[in-house]
Amino acid sequence: MRPYPAPLFALALLAAAALPAAAQDATYDLVLRNGRVVDGTGSPWYRADVAVRGDQIAAIGPGLAGTGRREIDVQGAVIAPGFVDVHSHGGGGIFAVPTADNYIRQGVTTLIAGPDGSSALPLGPWLDTLAALPRTVNMGSMVGQGTIRARVIGSVDRAATGAEMERMRALAEEAMHDGAFGLSTGLFYVPGTFTSTEEVIELARVVGRLGGIHKSHMRDEASGVVGSVRETIRIGEEGGLPTQITHHKVIGPGYWGASEETLRLVDEARARGVDVTIDQYPYTASATSIHAALLPKWAQEGGLQETRRRLADPAQRARIRDETARIIELERGGGNPDNVVVSSCGWDQTLAGRTLGDVVEMRGLEGSLQGAAEAAFWLTEQGGCGGIFHAIGEEDLLRIMRHPASMIASDGGVIVFGEARPHPRSYGTFARVLSEYVRERGTLTLEEAVRKMSAFPAQRMGLHDRGVIRPGMAADLAVFDAARVRDPATFAEPHQYAEGFSLVVVNGEIVLENGRVTDARPGRVLYGPARR
Ligand SMILES: [Zn+2]
Repeated sequence: MRPYPAPLFALALLAAAALPAAAQDATYDLVLRNGRVVDGTGSPWYRADVAVRGDQIAAIGPGLAGTGRREIDVQGAVIAPGFVDVHSHGGGGIFAVPTADNYIRQGVTTLIAGPDGSSALPLGPWLDTLAALPRTVNMGSMVGQGTIRARVIGSVDRAATGAEMERMRALAEEAMHDGAFGLSTGLFYVPGTFTSTEEVIELARVVGRLGGIHKSHMRDEASGVVGSVRETIRIGEEGGLPTQITHHKVIGPGYWGASEETLRLVDEARARGVDVTIDQYPYTASATSIHAALLPKWAQEGGLQETRRRLADPAQRARIRDETARIIELERGGGNPDNVVVSSCGWDQTLAGRTLGDVVEMRGLEGSLQGAAEAAFWLTEQGGCGGIFHAIGEEDLLRIMRHPASMIASDGGVIVFGEARPHPRSYGTFARVLSEYVRERGTLTLEEAVRKMSAFPAQRMGLHDRGVIRPGMAADLAVFDAARVRDPATFAEPHQYAEGFSLVVVNGEIVLENGRVTDARPGRVLYGPARR
């Protein structure tokens, strides 16, 4: 135990004096009795009690001797390590909802923010603000390559000069020293898309030297998915650092099946010593802004204002329309405007839940792919909207899930309950894996699923004191009923919490019990390997 400063120590003595004698003599702070321990390693479950002292797991065993200040009989429920989400957009929402209810109600105890090339910068002050916010969950961050490039070069399509490259390297290094876990890229997005592979490798070398990893929202997850996997592997190989294909999927019916090839590339790379891994979410729809998903990159250079200016020019609009129609047909549109659903429009939330096909009708547009492109332009011109895109191949999803180097991550955020029509992954990812892919379909064993949601992501982030149930590890625990766990959140009705989790513990403190979020706010800020 850490020594208390004198006044706190006196308070602790007073608090102890107020407890009944038996509780004072307790061996542990918390004991969970009669659990089925799924320890995160992938080993088969075993029956045991799990005891916690302070913020750590203190002892494990059947019929554990000693008593706890609190004793809870979990009656055969699964005790798993708290889940670690390595791809979270929760860095904004956590300030609105510090309890992160949508996450803790599915057993998630750690979030890594700053994905897809986008993060706070400088990172240090943001992490300080986060540290000052009482929260339920642990949280850390990546640093975004897109954010660094936008800061130094702006949102333009050109190569970096030598001086700019030097500044970007310095910013990446500073972020690592501030506590970043590594570099995230979003080469699909503006301005990441204007970055050459060589330029990313330059930053990867800086981050790798400091012990960080690289995670990529790849340049192309549709027609170019195989080439993008090659690029992600190359960044790891030449950058000299672990590299991760984030939310791996294959978009567009014309390209479904490509994961056979992408996973073969991953296996080959691993065989020659490249530390490449994968994460994914268990849904066949993706979510991002409608203009980012459906308009060509050149039309997005300079940001939304510039995009609108190009749309105002009839010749450019016609060119963009042809390309957007193609993207709706073959890529994110999944071949049908009804596969694109508005999730949120800041300027008119009544549009949330409408499809691009609905917008075509509303606006009296032509019932064609060109008309659907015009509907997307209208949404962009009004201020832009978030969208959900039903275009991911199910066979690919299953194949990726079964791969030993894949882990689960939500790509979701911390959600204000009831607001807009977000992708259900924010509410359901981890519960869905356990219900749909373990219990209903048998795609994974329970132990394998838990490994992909705890030990594996923790290890990947270098969180070597979390993700496994062992004495000395941080006491992040999720207790659930494997027969009842489920994810009621749907695309139509996303605002529904996961069910089946009876108890969630973060750093030894109970944050969820009997369906209620407690008053405890034990979440810590987690820092990467190079923090000064
Ligand atoms: Zn992404």
